[in-house]
Amino acid sequence: MFLHGTSTINAQGHLEIGGCDTVELKEQYGTPLYIVDEALVRQRSREYVEAFKASGLSFQVAYASKAFCTLAMCRLAEEEGLSLDVVSEGELHTALEAGFPVQRIHFHGNNKTPEEIQMAITAGIGCFVVDNFIEIHLLNAIAKDNGVKVNVLLRVTPGVEAHTHEYISTGQTDSKFGFDIGNGSAYEAVSLAASQSNLNLLGLHSHIGSQIFEVEGFQMAVERVAAFAVKVKQETDVTFQVVNLGGGFGIRYMDGDTPLKVSEYVKAITDAVKEHFAAAYTTLPEIWVEPGRSIVGDAGTTLYTVGTSKDIPGVRKYVAVDGGMTDNPRPALYESKYEATLANRANDSVEETVSIAGKCCESGDMLIWDVELPKVNTGDLLAVSCTGAYNYAMASNYNRIRRPAVVFVNEGQSDIVVRRESLNDIVANDLIPARIQKQPSLNA
Ligand SMILES: *Cc1c(COP(=O)(O)O)cnc(C)c1O
Repeated sequence: MFLHGTSTINAQGHLEIGGCDTVELKEQYGTPLYIVDEALVRQRSREYVEAFKASGLSFQVAYASKAFCTLAMCRLAEEEGLSLDVVSEGELHTALEAGFPVQRIHFHGNNKTPEEIQMAITAGIGCFVVDNFIEIHLLNAIAKDNGVKVNVLLRVTPGVEAHTHEYISTGQTDSKFGFDIGNGSAYEAVSLAASQSNLNLLGLHSHIGSQIFEVEGFQMAVERVAAFAVKVKQETDVTFQVVNLGGGFGIRYMDGDTPLKVSEYVKAITDAVKEHFAAAYTTLPEIWVEPGRSIVGDAGTTLYTVGTSKDIPGVRKYVAVDGGMTDNPRPALYESKYEATLANRANDSVEETVSIAGKCCESGDMLIWDVELPKVNTGDLLAVSCTGAYNYAMASNYNRIRRPAVVFVNEGQSDIVVRRESLNDIVANDLIPARIQKQPSLNA
């Protein structure tokens, strides 16, 4: 495993994160435990902000809160000067409860309900990213009822789809998200939105994919969005103050992964904006981005206790931990790969290749296939790295397993930011209808 952020191996051979010994964290909080390296979250946030400052363009860096949305995380985002993307009433509620500045909240999603739209208007959020024609009408109607004019970006699909090591330039017409530029629906959406009495059309939004390792997809998206904006300006006089280029910046999960530096992604985007908007836009639009994974992903580590193991001679050795797909569904969902280390014996040399299984009743509940570790024993502590994004956020109670606690660690201090669920939490919403309630025993 590679060490990143504040992770080190201390004199006792224990993995230490944020100045906290993981063996002590286990004693204090139990396992499974999500550990978040606060300094690394702040560092990643600053890398974005500083790279944009260097570009000279006006900007917002909006943290895509779906990656990891808790009250404390909203506070970190605010302290680092980020804006915040939300996609549901639950994420919006979290942001509001954290006291996040409402003007810096952006509401996304392809099926915002009337109740969610009302809630966001009541809160006074900064911007809606509008996804489809029904939403244009619905949002305008609700804004009108409220006597307000709301800021909107229109989500467009520029016909670029990016993957980790490749980008595909095709008709991305077949997407559940947004207005397609290629088939004319984006143009129609601009005309419609611009004519609505209670919408203030700020600009365009595009998001081309996730875990992207190269700049070409972003450059191509800028080029196409700019060409579209220029055409719109020439033909309709509508100009855009804001261009949002979404998220998707890649991170290193495995030793061999080679994402670019944050500053390289940002420079490619801002240079492309300068190049492609300059001719038609004397004032360049404000540029927004929406990193999620790259803000929190590598700052997260999940700590497990090793329980049982099963050695199938000549086949493989399974080592089971006290969590699994309930706290990290990504391997089961996407075949995502992770690295792990023995946190209580981090200096021991590699002795065996094992596969890490979860404790759920699914054969697919595997966290890592074939990882090289020192000899693993019951009671050892296993640390899986880069679990900060889309782990806690996607955690479930399958098998009625309690969701783990989350701690922030920083300079030797650890603080719970999400409590471990209790057994009472597990049944808290359950009800038994009267007709099947257990009757008091007659001969009691
Ligand atoms: C998921 C998402 C993001 C964040 O993506 P990451 O890969 O986590 O950076 C940003 N914008 C939109 C619209 C998204 O759907």
